[in-house]
Amino acid sequence: MVAPDRTGRVDLLVRGGVVLTMDDAWTVFEGDVAVEGGDIVALGPDLGIRATRVLEARGNAVMPGLVNAHMHEVLDRGLFEDLPFMRWLEEFALPKDKAYEPRHMRAAALMNQLEMIQGGTTAFIDIFRFPAEAAAVAERSGLRATFAPQLIDEPLGAGETLDSSVAFIEEWRDRVPDRIRTWFGPHAIYSCHEETFARVRELAGRYGVGIHTHLAESVAEVEIVRGRTGGLTPAAYLDRLLGLGPDVVAAHCIQLDDADVELLADRDVAVAHCPTSNMKLGNGVARVLEMQGAGIRVGLGTDSVMTNNNLDMVEEMRQAGLLQKLHRRDATVMSAPSLLRLATIGSARALGLGDRIGTLEVGKAADLIVVDLHTAHAWPAFRERGGNVAEHIVWSSNDSDVLATVVEGRVLMEDRVVETIEFDEIEELVDREARDLLAKAGVLDSVIGGTR
Ligand SMILES: [Zn+2]
Repeated sequence: MVAPDRTGRVDLLVRGGVVLTMDDAWTVFEGDVAVEGGDIVALGPDLGIRATRVLEARGNAVMPGLVNAHMHEVLDRGLFEDLPFMRWLEEFALPKDKAYEPRHMRAAALMNQLEMIQGGTTAFIDIFRFPAEAAAVAERSGLRATFAPQLIDEPLGAGETLDSSVAFIEEWRDRVPDRIRTWFGPHAIYSCHEETFARVRELAGRYGVGIHTHLAESVAEVEIVRGRTGGLTPAAYLDRLLGLGPDVVAAHCIQLDDADVELLADRDVAVAHCPTSNMKLGNGVARVLEMQGAGIRVGLGTDSVMTNNNLDMVEEMRQAGLLQKLHRRDATVMSAPSLLRLATIGSARALGLGDRIGTLEVGKAADLIVVDLHTAHAWPAFRERGGNVAEHIVWSSNDSDVLATVVEGRVLMEDRVVETIEFDEIEELVDREARDLLAKAGVLDSVIGGTR
């Protein structure tokens, strides 16, 4: 069952927790997870295996790491709030994105990746600027990452270009095998030219990489596309421009009609559902249950800290559940186990990583977290046969209850002490670089005690 090295020890043993494997049979047990060479080599009650390093998880939950299926590693949050979506995007978000320099991106990546490690996210896809800066931070932080340089034609200079995307992919695609991937990231139908999508399709095929984009996020987008095409929906139009396929992960997908749902299912497009961002921007409620019912691979994402405003995937699960229960006026939909699966194996499958991560099974990568059940808001905790552990994590926990974060068997955080990023300096760095960015964008004065 176990393949320890010559010393009879495995690299890592996560001991004595309530293990939620998220496998198809919903296997839950109290016991251990043994890790060797980055992979899970054994799991079960009382393995009795010696290990070079032991993470004590007794009384706490052990589960697959959370997978964020859509986010942007931006530097600013808590600014430009409460505006209509297209005005927010065109007057603030995109012009400010123009002011980014690599130094701002480095600070942003440190802030975002620190927050993710602390919050139990073990893998994410980032669609934003200067991806080489963020990838260099990920190389150090130990997180599993996919970077899609955010390609924007209009307004010019607000994002990456085809050339910069290709240069990034050439530089990074083989640099950190398995753990860091490079994709294409055309921002959206309304911000990229038609011929850009055709070029992306051709280049993605040449490099064998995926494509991440935003789709059918707002009513305004629907109207733009209808006007431009004489009646097509955003999904149908993107299919014509790009040729939709299983290598495409589309964020949001709120404005879908029945034919669109059928189209995305037929093309095996994956969808990243971002309920908090969708609510905050007033964009609507994605048809998550219909999409899942049609067989679409749906994952969960936070979107950026501009529109959330945190990267708390525990909270995101709860938001996803509450939103559907309210919207459908049906308390029976989106159970705790289904939400845990959405944020783990659901997102993993959406990102094409379902064979490697998303569940705790022998042979899969050891991407896992330990969640505290000894907090007052998780009482009473019943642990036998899974008890009410899944319900506590989804309905009463938050990301600061994550005690340990492990990726490929490497401990990134134990007892809430992050081991891969020196975070004492980051707060100052972020403050300094964010001020610099906003000053360069010409909005610093207006966002500090300015217009309300
Ligand atoms: Zn987004």
